[in-house]
Amino acid sequence: MHKVLTRRRLIAAAPVLATGLITGFPRIRRAHADAGVVNIYSARHYPSDQTLFDMFTQETGIAVNAIQGVAEELMQRQQMEGDSSPADVLITVDAGNLWRAEQWNLLQPIHSAILDKEVPANLRHPVNLWFSFSTRARVILRDKSKVQAEDIPTYEELADPKWQGKILITTSNSIYNQSLLASIIEADGSEKAEAWAKGLVANLARRPEGADTEQALALAAGVGALAVSNSYYFGRLLGRDDETRKKLEHVGIVFPNQQDRGTHINVSGGGVAAYAPNKENAVKFLEFLISPEAQKVFADANYEFPVRAGVAPIDIVAAWGNFKPDPVNVSALGKNNAEAVRIMDRAGWR
Ligand code: FE
Repeated sequence: MHKVLTRRRLIAAAPVLATGLITGFPRIRRAHADAGVVNIYSARHYPSDQTLFDMFTQETGIAVNAIQGVAEELMQRQQMEGDSSPADVLITVDAGNLWRAEQWNLLQPIHSAILDKEVPANLRHPVNLWFSFSTRARVILRDKSKVQAEDIPTYEELADPKWQGKILITTSNSIYNQSLLASIIEADGSEKAEAWAKGLVANLARRPEGADTEQALALAAGVGALAVSNSYYFGRLLGRDDETRKKLEHVGIVFPNQQDRGTHINVSGGGVAAYAPNKENAVKFLEFLISPEAQKVFADANYEFPVRAGVAPIDIVAAWGNFKPDPVNVSALGKNNAEAVRIMDRAGWR
């Protein structure tokens, strides 16, 4: 995951470094002159993001400048910009990335009664460096014609030799898999987690390739019997069109570990940038993201689960029913990330 910046990207980031100006921002719109601006670095990018920014500007008069990109590149950019970074807010996905942002000192702790109240304690950083705004579950998909739901009650079960040649999962480069393994380390300890990773690798239906979506589609096409995927990729496929829905008719979703710790979840989240020039507006933006209206837009855009109590997920997701999430503080996923990567290497997880 630790890609090196390409020369082209370094050059692209250079004007910002040299001048300290926000030259890279695609849209700078004016609102009330005195309400100011908020500059957002976002690794989430959906058409609905603009809806959210517009809602925020309408509500507060604060103009939004957004720059969107891949998490690691945005974080590297912010790091290079240092204390002259224009970033006020960093939004990203996966606790592993939020942890990395913390390690790189890209965030600052903030105090907000609203965020303290509405974001559950296990979904925010222990000293409020970041907050989660939506969650996603790493679920198991099953070919209903081959596997009964009760036959695959836990992640641990995926390592059972009876599933040899049956499992589809992405590579160990996926931070989603790293975080899943980090959660297993947290629950079962390193030794058992390593035995699990080895068992899983021995059960693969094919060499890991493609993203989560490709695992679901391969399953639909008759490859393997079980796939591991983030819930929203399955939701997106179901929401795509009738043809795709038809293809997936014999694919079912399983929320593992309901009888013990609960299903592994991860988050989209964000925090206030370490050198935010508009800190107050940054806090206001994060508070806006946890409002009921924003939660609905934020979670619906990507078939995720809203964090705020009382806000329902989109229909397709709601139809899966309720499940028990693993209540561990998601910061443990970052803490165990390096250990997870070492275990994956030893297990030969490509
Ligand atoms: Fe994703």
